[in-house]
Amino acid sequence: MKKNIKGFTTRCIHDGELIDYKYKGAVSPLYISTAYDYLEVEDHKYPRYFNTPNQLALSKKISSLENCEKSLIFGSGIAAIFASMFSFLKSGDHVVFQSSLYGGTINLILKEFKKFNIEHSLVESLEIDDYKKEIKSNTKLIYIETPSNPLLQIIDLELVADLAKKNDLISIIDNTFASPINQNPANYGIDIIIHSATKYLGGHSDILAGTISSSKILIDKILESSINYGGNLSEHTVWLLERSIKTLSLRVKAQNTNALKIAEFLNGNENIKSVYYPGLKSHPQHELAKKQMYGFGGMLSFLLKDEKKSDTFTRYLKIIKPAMSLGGVESTITSPSLTSHSKISKEKREKFGISDGLLRFSVGIEDYDDLENDLTKAFQKI
Ligand SMILES: *Cc1c(COP(=O)(O)O)cnc(C)c1O
Repeated sequence: MKKNIKGFTTRCIHDGELIDYKYKGAVSPLYISTAYDYLEVEDHKYPRYFNTPNQLALSKKISSLENCEKSLIFGSGIAAIFASMFSFLKSGDHVVFQSSLYGGTINLILKEFKKFNIEHSLVESLEIDDYKKEIKSNTKLIYIETPSNPLLQIIDLELVADLAKKNDLISIIDNTFASPINQNPANYGIDIIIHSATKYLGGHSDILAGTISSSKILIDKILESSINYGGNLSEHTVWLLERSIKTLSLRVKAQNTNALKIAEFLNGNENIKSVYYPGLKSHPQHELAKKQMYGFGGMLSFLLKDEKKSDTFTRYLKIIKPAMSLGGVESTITSPSLTSHSKISKEKREKFGISDGLLRFSVGIEDYDDLENDLTKAFQKI
């Protein structure tokens, strides 16, 4: 673990920036070349080798935010997830997964692993002993997501990291929901940290990207395979993502504040059956969240008392937009059963606790009163 002395906002703005030595411009220049001099430049630069100036600069910023030695930037979150696992796996291996994961990750496991003869266990509980029980002689990785999507469950990072270390496994976390501003899993010993940068890192619902952060040793191994998989992000989008991250800390802090207020508002509302938000005292892992997170995040889920009305309710919202995806400055709401988890059977979804009426709310940075009014008006209409 590296020690960071600067605050998050300063690191978001300045770390990894490319200096414009020639014209002294204030922002990183964009180098779009795909062809570089191999005689004069030491490492053979090429975008698919993840080593162009803008990719390296952005990866430094992300490493700084995640307290890791090195990072790689991918063309999507799922490309990062794929590379983080398949760089270490071979036929006959086994992976232990938390069952409450992003739907696309579940789909990747259920559809692709079999083709490569890779086994897996999906652990439904958050208790470390239940993960321990699943470890076999061929287990290579343990993969978690906390807070999880869409139910905001929290698993103990330190216990997972220790279990992995004791059993010689690599631990991987999808840290998308927290963002580096709310949680740094490397501080607890987790080996590999992934983000769908499409969400909070991008923050404006206009970039698709993914990141992996880890130690130099593990990143070099992932890089070796990723050059063959070909999942790097294009230079233009790398540059845009760097710009987006400059406001990451400000955005996420505003989202934390709004989300806590909204969770408290919904929690006391007569139309609501349950609210899932780690910042609420009633959340079963609230104390753990307090211990391992700097803030509780901008994501929450809830169930209406009359679950069948969730679509109608969503249609009555004016500011909060029904939309897939999350983490933008604008508030969005989604039905996981119709979007992120739609490729998973209803039976499996219900097993994971995702009922059809569940609504997932990505709280934006709008003025709080406007969001509360929007919700109140929609409640009055249903
Ligand atoms: C969106 C998302 C992903 C997948 O990322 P893409 O950028 O869509 O490929 C992975 N994990 C979580 C938690 C997500 O929300």
